[in-house]
Amino acid sequence: MSVRAAARLLEGAPIAGEIRARVATDVAEFVAAHGHPPGLTVVVCGRSAPSMVYLERILKACAAVGIEGRFVDVPGDEPTAQSVELTSALLRLNDDPTVSGIIVQMPLPPGIGLRTVIDVIDPLKDIDGIHPLNAGLLRLGYEGFVPATAHAALEVLERSGVTIPGAEAVVVGRSPVVGMPVAFMLVKGGATVTVCHSKTRDLAAHTRRADIVVVAAGQPGLVTGAMLKPGAVVVDVGINVVDGHIVGDVDFASAREVAAAITPVPGGVGPLTNALLLAHLVRAAQRQAVERAETAAAARVPSGRAQPPPA
Ligand code: NAD
Repeated sequence: MSVRAAARLLEGAPIAGEIRARVATDVAEFVAAHGHPPGLTVVVCGRSAPSMVYLERILKACAAVGIEGRFVDVPGDEPTAQSVELTSALLRLNDDPTVSGIIVQMPLPPGIGLRTVIDVIDPLKDIDGIHPLNAGLLRLGYEGFVPATAHAALEVLERSGVTIPGAEAVVVGRSPVVGMPVAFMLVKGGATVTVCHSKTRDLAAHTRRADIVVVAAGQPGLVTGAMLKPGAVVVDVGINVVDGHIVGDVDFASAREVAAAITPVPGGVGPLTNALLLAHLVRAAQRQAVERAETAAAARVPSGRAQPPPA
């Protein structure tokens, strides 16, 4: 009788540490070149307890790598007035050269539509890839900002040793922030991708033939070991609280017996998400600096040269 070794754990913390170290170096270079640090602003609509915990964590992560983290609170309890406030706050941040990147705490309060944010945020400052331009660039296979969680799932896969080109991949979940961007990134990487969702008839029939399974459904223990192909690589994006414990969307104990490699929850994709958000921020700051330099250079060209010849 052969005994399968338990799956290798794909832990996010060591990768996140490497990314943060690289970000700290890039920030120091940016400061040396421009005389000020890149700036991240988090927009919070109403101070709920979970958003305050997140805010504290991200501002601390910024400080640790030399990024200037700030937050803007959009108070109020009347959706129409709060939407107007939110739009003007975003427009101000778009115009502020000290702000390199903006993230808006989700979910938004009831009554405030997502488009209040995604239509207004400057695509060059949209470091979590929610603006339609960035979503479209990803869809077309061009470079833009992608949602940090989706990027984290791909980063884990790329470092897991799995070969993405030619792989059968199944993504469970089709949300615009996780499932769909992961699916597009896997397609770009050369995988053959199936996207499953709440209307999928036989989820196990799909997951069982996959070399790569990425689960982002918000359903604790949805994917079990019996639903996996032996040797599959499993990325569990889910974060659920069950009986006071954080668990993923994959039944870790049974999946670990079948998979070749699996991300734990907590400790897998989660720690990588914030580190990648900071990396996106530095990229945004660098791109804006280049754009400003190009605009300044264009303004220095003598105006006569740009004029058409006299008729
Ligand atoms: P969502 O609710 O927007 O989308 C869930 C998706 O799962 C939907 O497309 C739905 O069709 C699908 N789904 C639900 N039940 C299903 C079922 N029984 N079978 C197949 N598909 C099913 O959620 P989201 O924002 O994409 O988040 C997904 C999970 O990822 C959540 O647990 C969330 O907490 C977690 N998350 C983690 C991070 C991180 O940094 N690790 C970031 C964002 C979200």
